[in-house]
Amino acid sequence: MTRSVLDLWRHFLQHPSRGEIETFRDRRLRALVRHAHARVPYYRDLFDESGLDIEGFRGVADLERIPVTTRQTLQSLAPDQILARGYEPSRLVQRWSSGSSGQKLTVRRTWLEDRTLAAFRKRAEHEVGVRPRDRMARVTLERGVSPNDAQWPLKMLQSLGLFRYLSIDCLADPTSAIESLRAYRPDVVGGFPGAITRVAEAAGEEGLRDLGVRLIVVGGETLRPEMRRRMETAFGARIVEKYGTIEFDLVAMQCPQGEQLHVCDDGLILEILRGSEAVETGAQGEVVVTGLHSWAMPLIRYRIGDVATKGLARCPCGAPSSTIHSVGGRTLDYFALPDGRLIHPFALTTPMLDAHPWIRQYQLTQERTDHLVLRVVPWDAPSPGLLEEVKQQYSKILGSEVTLDIRLLDELRPEASGKFRLSQSLVRPHHDEFDWERVEDLASDWERR
Ligand SMILES: [Zn+2]
Repeated sequence: MTRSVLDLWRHFLQHPSRGEIETFRDRRLRALVRHAHARVPYYRDLFDESGLDIEGFRGVADLERIPVTTRQTLQSLAPDQILARGYEPSRLVQRWSSGSSGQKLTVRRTWLEDRTLAAFRKRAEHEVGVRPRDRMARVTLERGVSPNDAQWPLKMLQSLGLFRYLSIDCLADPTSAIESLRAYRPDVVGGFPGAITRVAEAAGEEGLRDLGVRLIVVGGETLRPEMRRRMETAFGARIVEKYGTIEFDLVAMQCPQGEQLHVCDDGLILEILRGSEAVETGAQGEVVVTGLHSWAMPLIRYRIGDVATKGLARCPCGAPSSTIHSVGGRTLDYFALPDGRLIHPFALTTPMLDAHPWIRQYQLTQERTDHLVLRVVPWDAPSPGLLEEVKQQYSKILGSEVTLDIRLLDELRPEASGKFRLSQSLVRPHHDEFDWERVEDLASDWERR
């Protein structure tokens, strides 16, 4: 254990080259696989049943020999099946990963593991320009502190003027969020892009440029181009996209010089798969992650349920990272149509937003296989002709079997999670296997950027 911690910190402090990262990953993965086989009942059975050669396991090159594990599988198992022997659950930090399905997975790690993952995030934040002395306003959901999550080290740093932040409740009224921002005068704003966009819109014509916010780091839900534009205009700040999950903390952070995201390659191994096949650069697939620093509750080839587009193997900026081109929501978001196709709702809403600037906010719900409801908050009341145009646009993509009901509203509220769900299907059965053969309209995401 001590050796493993020293190995990690030595690696962390040396600004590793790509070759060093690869050697480090292989070493960590070999140790993790052995650890999981020896001490975690679920993985012992999984590895044995799949005939995995534990002693001969070389590293990342052998990763595909391990079967993928889904969130549903881990949810269905008792803690003693998925925790490593020797870790006392009541002494671990617990975090809850909600997921769109509403089922929660309890993720447990030691305090040191939890801080290690946070250190990878801090390093990436530093690379995009966040400084330790910056004041940060976080527009998120206040989750409270997990019982074993000791806060004194952070408090001590904050008393020295480092890592200071203010939490702003993302469920609060945007005007009160603006008051809090004005009083705190942050250098950096972080949080859910939907909630920050709402704040940006509430600021009206005069915007929030006088606050002097330098950087906005957003994550936790899909960042849409229109959100990016509205935040940039209101704050006059650079927008940086972060892809993180409760299970792994930081997964990827936008390149300081480009739009693709740098994968946190020394914190985890990220694969983008369709079925069991890795996709090519530019193609979309499901995100499967192996955490290299979670030993209390190992997550090996864990399918998060997110969809992403694979980017270049190395970032053109020269960083030693592989890249994700874009993160595109969750597999559960796809709509199953009466003709058997699966389409992502962005295939409907992206052309709609391009053609209809009067739409301020929207939420698209598939209520039946053949019936969608589009809730819209308009900037100005649209004419009946415009509504008809929207319907025709949808019907061109969906076919005539599917009907659309448009409801104009004064406001759309975030969910209890603080996120604005842009789309939701109430009918798609919860498939364990996502059938990529039926998916339509995938290439557009790569071409648009
Ligand atoms: Zn880069």
